Amino acid sequence: MAKIPAFIRWFAVDGAQPDLALAQFAELRRQIPLLYVLLIVNACALAYTHYGLAPNGLIAPILALVLICAVRLVTWLRRRGVTVDVPFAIAQLRQTIVTAGIVSFAFITWSLCLNGYGGPYEHGHVALFIAITVVGCIFCLMNLPQAALLVTVIVTIPYLVYYLSMGNTVFFAVGVNIFLVTAVMLQVLLNNYRGFTTLVRSRAEMRRLSDENARLAQTDALTGLPNRRYFLVTLASRIATSAAAGSRFAVGVLDLDRFKPINDTHGHLFGDRLLAEVGARLMTVATEDLILARLGGDEFGFVLTGDASDAEAVGQRLCDLISQSYFFEDKRVSIGCSCGVAIFPEAGGSVHELFDRADYALYNSKTSRRGMATLYSAEHESRIRSERAIEDALQSADLDSEMQVHLQPMVNTDLGRVVAVEALARWTNPTLGRVAPDRFIATAERSGLIHMLTLVLLRKALAELDRLPPGISLSFNLSAYDIVDHQTVLAIVAMIRQANVVPSRLVFELTETAVMRNFEVAQDSIMLLRSLGARIAIDDFGTGFSSLGYLHRLTIDKVKIDRSFVSDLDHPSSRNIVASIVGLCRNLELECIVEGVETAKQHAILRKIGCRIFQGYLFGRPMPGSELPAYLANSAAEYAEARPATTAVS
Ligand code: C2E
Ligand code: CA
Ligand code: CA
Repeated sequence: MAKIPAFIRWFAVDGAQPDLALAQFAELRRQIPLLYVLLIVNACALAYTHYGLAPNGLIAPILALVLICAVRLVTWLRRRGVTVDVPFAIAQLRQTIVTAGIVSFAFITWSLCLNGYGGPYEHGHVALFIAITVVGCIFCLMNLPQAALLVTVIVTIPYLVYYLSMGNTVFFAVGVNIFLVTAVMLQVLLNNYRGFTTLVRSRAEMRRLSDENARLAQTDALTGLPNRRYFLVTLASRIATSAAAGSRFAVGVLDLDRFKPINDTHGHLFGDRLLAEVGARLMTVATEDLILARLGGDEFGFVLTGDASDAEAVGQRLCDLISQSYFFEDKRVSIGCSCGVAIFPEAGGSVHELFDRADYALYNSKTSRRGMATLYSAEHESRIRSERAIEDALQSADLDSEMQVHLQPMVNTDLGRVVAVEALARWTNPTLGRVAPDRFIATAERSGLIHMLTLVLLRKALAELDRLPPGISLSFNLSAYDIVDHQTVLAIVAMIRQANVVPSRLVFELTETAVMRNFEVAQDSIMLLRSLGARIAIDDFGTGFSSLGYLHRLTIDKVKIDRSFVSDLDHPSSRNIVASIVGLCRNLELECIVEGVETAKQHAILRKIGCRIFQGYLFGRPMPGSELPAYLANSAAEYAEARPATTAVS
C-alpha cells in the first residue's frame, strides 16, 4: 500500500495524538464562536455599504451566509462545558477544516464580486474587509493550523491574482501588503502552535506520570496486588453503588495460618517470597467481580460483587488455594489460611463496620475453625452486642471494688502439699452480674483496657501473696498485650519493687502464642521480669504451633501443659504428647505443671507418665483468698494420707 505523505496525514488530522486533539477541540470551542461573530459583523457591514449599489442578487446570498454562520455560532456555543471523547473531537476538527474551506471560498467569491460595484470608498472597504477578516480568521484558528492555512490559501491567492490583474498601483500595493502580512501571521501561528503542542505533550506526560504514581500508591510492592488503600477506596465506592442500586456484595478478609513461625525460622526473605507466591496465586483468580488485595503482613482481602450468596464458598476456595503446598527449590512449605466474610448491607453499612464484621468472622475461624471461611452471622451480631455491653460496663466500672482475684491451688502430690496458687480474675458487675474472665479479658484486650486491668489485678494478687504461707508461690496471668507494652511492663516492675513481697515467690504466666506473636519484645520483657527475681511459666502449652521447637530458645522456668490434653487422655496421641513434654521439661530442667485435672483416673495416668505438679478441680477450685487457710489445713491432712511412698521431685 502506498504510504500517505506526512503533510496529507497532518492536514487530515490523523488522530495519532488523542491528547492533542482534545486540547485543540477545547481551544476551538472558545475561539470559533468569536470567529463567527467576526464574520457576521464584517459581512453585515460590507453588505450595508454596498446596499443599493450592488444588485440585490449579490446582497441576498450574503444574508443566507450570515444565517448559516449564526446557526453554526449557536451550535458551538451549545458545546461549551460538554465532555467529549477523542473520536468526536477528531471528527469536529476535520469538520472545522472543511467548513473553513467552504466558508472562506464563499466569502472571497462574494467580496470579489462586490468589488465590481460602487466607487473608491466601497472598493477600499472590500480590501479592508478581506484583510481584517483573513487576519481575524487566522487568529481564531490559531490552534487548528490546517484550517488557518487553508483559509489563507483560499483567500489570499485569488485576492492577490485579482488585485494584481486590476493594473491599479494602489490595489497592487494593498494586495502585496496583505499577502505579506498574512504570510507573517501564518508564521507566527505556526510558532505558536508548536509551543501549544509541546505544552499539550508535556501535560499528557505529566498526567501519565501522576497516573502511574497513583497506580503505584495503590499497589502492594511485594505481591503486585492492589494494596490496603485501594481496597478501602473500592469498598467505599462499592457501598455507594450497591446502596443506590439496592444490591448486595461481600467483603472477605483472609489471614495466613502458621506464617509467623515460617517467617521466623526461614528468614524474612523467604517469608517475602512466600507472600509473593500467595499473591501470585490470588492474582490468577481475580476477576472484575472478585477484587483481591493485600491488606498488610500476611492478611489479604477481597470484595466480591455479583452473587454474594456464594461468598462463603468463594472464601473457602481461596483458603484452599492458598493452603496447597509451595515449592521453593528443595523446600516444600505448607501454610494454612482462614477467612471471614461479611455481606453488605446485612452485616453493616460503612467501610469500618463491614471490615470489622469480616474481621470478627475471621477471628472466629482462627479460634475455632482454622483453615475455614466463616460468614458473619446473626449469632456473631448478638455476641458482638454482648461484648459491647461488657466493654461499656468495663469502661465505667469501679475496677477496684468490682474486681477480685481467686486463688486456685497447685499441688505437688509427691511432696503432698500445695506448692503454689494461681490468681484468677473474678468480676461482679452491678448490672451484668458475674462475667467469666475469658470474656472480659478478651474484651479488655480488644478495647485497650487490659493494661489498667492487669495493674489493678496485680495489686490485689500481690496483697494475696503477702498473706500466703511462706512455702507457697503465686502465679499471675499476663496478657499477650501486656508483655509487648513497655509501659505496662515497667509499671509491673515498679509495683513489685514497692510491694512487700519476695519476687522469687511470684510467677508470671504467659501463653505460648503471646510470646510467639512478638518474640523479640516478649523476650525482653521476660528478661526484665526475671532480672527482678520473678519467674516465668508458659501457659496453655501445646496449643500453639511452634511448641517444642521453640522451648529451648525461651528463658523460662516452668511449663503448664494445657488442659485440653488432660480431657483427652484416653487418646494415646494425647498421652504421648504429654509424655514428650514432660520429658523435654526434665531435659531442660523446667518445672512442669498439668492443669485441668478433674478426675482421679486422669491423675493416675498423669502420674504414671511422670507428672508431679497438678492443678484442677480434683484438687481445688479457684477460691477467695479468705477461704484458703481452711483449705490448706484440710488438704494437708488429705495429702499426707494419699502421699505415695516414693518421692520424685519433678
Ligand atoms: P488459664 O490461665 O488457663 O486459667 C485456668 C482456667 O482453668 C481457669 O479458668 C480455671 O478456673 C480453669 N480450671 C481450673 N481447673 C480446672 C479443671 O479442672 N477443669 C476445667 N475445665 N477448668 C479448670 P478461669 O478462671 O475461667 O479463667 C479463664 C482464663 O481467663 C484463664 O485461663 C486466663 O487465660 C484468663 N484469666 C483469668 N484471670 C486472668 C488474669 O488475671 N489476667 C489475665 N490476663 N488473664 C486471666
Ligand atoms: Ca493461667
Ligand atoms: Ca492455662
